[in-house]
Amino acid sequence: MNIHEFQAKELLKRYNIPVPDYFVIRDLDALKDIDLDEAVVKIQVHAGGRGKAGGVKFAKSKAEIKDVTKRLLGMKIVNNQTGPQGVVANAVILSKPVDIHKEFYLGAIIDRDQKRMSLIASTEGGMDIEEVAQKHPEKILVLPIGMGGKLRMYQIVAFNKFMGFKADVAKQATKLVQNLAKAFYELDASILEINPLVLTPSNHLVALDAKFAIDDNALFRHPGILEMRDPDQYSKAENAAFENDLSYVSLEGNIGCMVNGAGLAMATMDIIQHEGGKPANFLDVGGSATKERIAFGFEMILSDPNVKGILVNIFGGIVSCRMIAEGIIHVVKERKIKIPVVVRLEGTHVKEGEKLLEDSGLEIIAAVDLLDAAKKIVSQVQEVI
Ligand code: ADP
Ligand code: MG
Repeated sequence: MNIHEFQAKELLKRYNIPVPDYFVIRDLDALKDIDLDEAVVKIQVHAGGRGKAGGVKFAKSKAEIKDVTKRLLGMKIVNNQTGPQGVVANAVILSKPVDIHKEFYLGAIIDRDQKRMSLIASTEGGMDIEEVAQKHPEKILVLPIGMGGKLRMYQIVAFNKFMGFKADVAKQATKLVQNLAKAFYELDASILEINPLVLTPSNHLVALDAKFAIDDNALFRHPGILEMRDPDQYSKAENAAFENDLSYVSLEGNIGCMVNGAGLAMATMDIIQHEGGKPANFLDVGGSATKERIAFGFEMILSDPNVKGILVNIFGGIVSCRMIAEGIIHVVKERKIKIPVVVRLEGTHVKEGEKLLEDSGLEIIAAVDLLDAAKKIVSQVQEVI
């Protein structure tokens, strides 16, 4: 789950990481309580690259602050981090402009290749870190974060040297980097990024921007962070999925996919693409799919007007294919589904499940395996469109 910059800064503050003061503004009226003669106004959306998209503006007078805030509230941005539908800013934050001597990058991620938490630091701040990694890998330092979110002293020394931090700045950086690693670990973050971390002309390190994502599976441990979830930043279907504990991501294609297990869902999307089709969504109904979840999954898929066909791919490990078949038959009848539905079942009670589908008298297309299923749904959808 992602949260907004101002919420991420709230968390950083709790870990004693210096951030500029900010005011969260949701309507123009709220400006009258704020006494700033100049400000940086930033849209609050779940996407980076706001500066490039025109969502970060400097205002040099009270009148300008009002003018800029008016323009930015309600602004929509569409970039490679938002998906085609974009995201709308229902809030902006105002901060006093900070004098910048130099910008740095500091972040932590779950490093899947290395199977550990990694700290990432760069002298190239304020830029797209992926681009820096590609063009100037030597300008990025990656350090393993130990269990408990701890960094070793020799790592911190290496970090300060790499970043060029000396004397008092190195002291500040030491605390800051230790606190960042601790916050990352304790808050079950999947990403915690400060870009830019700036050094002011008076030699103070300040986090000007903050990005934080938490592992959804750890949210139960952090009710306070769960409360920060902003449903306005997600689609209707994504919100419904969240409330019902399903993983759903809408995509641009026209083949709705209902699958149990994230790995199988990925494989299903891959094979659809391989056969020349385009998945409309990623949907994992969970290892223990029930009739209700199947029905709900169909509702979510059908709520996308682009969907021209549905592929159900269920592996009956814990669940019974018979029960899944009953669920599918019920929904297809009840919802009078007219678009092609291809079903591939495998595993527990598969024979009984397939028989139920066959005897249902409904136009449900059975597939013998994953490749067959992908071929069938792709050709069906091509006929429809
Ligand atoms: P994004 O990463 O989404 O583009 P940032 O918050 O990083 O948004 O803002 C973009 C740039 O704007 C920063 O790299 C920094 O140079 C500048 N900036 C942001 N906040 C401030 C501030 N309070 N004072 C001065 N400059 C700022
Ligand atoms: Mg930034």
